[in-house]
Amino acid sequence: MSLYALGLGSNLGERIQTLVHAVIELDQVSQTEVQSVSSLYETEPVGLLPQPNYINGAVLILSDLQPEELLREIQAIEIRFGRIRTRRRWGPRTLDIDILLIESMSIHTKRLTVPHPQLFFRRFALLPLAELVPDWVIPGSGTTVTTALADCPESGIIQCVLTQHQFLQRVREVQ
Ligand code: ATP
Ligand code: MG
Ligand code: MG
Repeated sequence: MSLYALGLGSNLGERIQTLVHAVIELDQVSQTEVQSVSSLYETEPVGLLPQPNYINGAVLILSDLQPEELLREIQAIEIRFGRIRTRRRWGPRTLDIDILLIESMSIHTKRLTVPHPQLFFRRFALLPLAELVPDWVIPGSGTTVTTALADCPESGIIQCVLTQHQFLQRVREVQ
């Protein structure tokens, strides 16, 4: 069993509802259990394309799957929610689930880099993550999530749109 921290994002369609259902689908992945969810935040899009604001959050899961197996499951969930994978990175999408951290692992394969290479530069990932695992030392850096958040140059958080408790309640209502 490994503890995974995942980042969630959506900027098309019913954004909050999509993230609620994404958590339920993650919990239904075999050998995988959702442990906790963060608050949800409205955030400004990064990158070059003009696009709608995002809703971002984080989730902790315990899974017996290998990292690349979990990545495949995650990508299948993204596609079920109507994500169209374009060649252009950072474009608008109904659902993005990224693996941010896995225990104390560092992974560099063709398909997977963990810790997520952009984590240090993304307040929209670090802020919800810090609610769940403030003291997690980011492998390869010796820095905790809290310190990384304090040092993060990017702004771009607009507002909290759902508290942790409200997000969890929405998940339970649907489940
Ligand atoms: P970013 O990774 O910068 O947030 P993105 O989420 O928009 O960009 P995607 O289109 O979701 O990028 O994924 C592109 C590829 O990134 C995937 O096909 C996947 O193989 C690869 N990838 C590498 N490391 C990770 C990771 N830690 N989590 C998710 N995907 C990853
Ligand atoms: Mg992403
Ligand atoms: Mg992604």
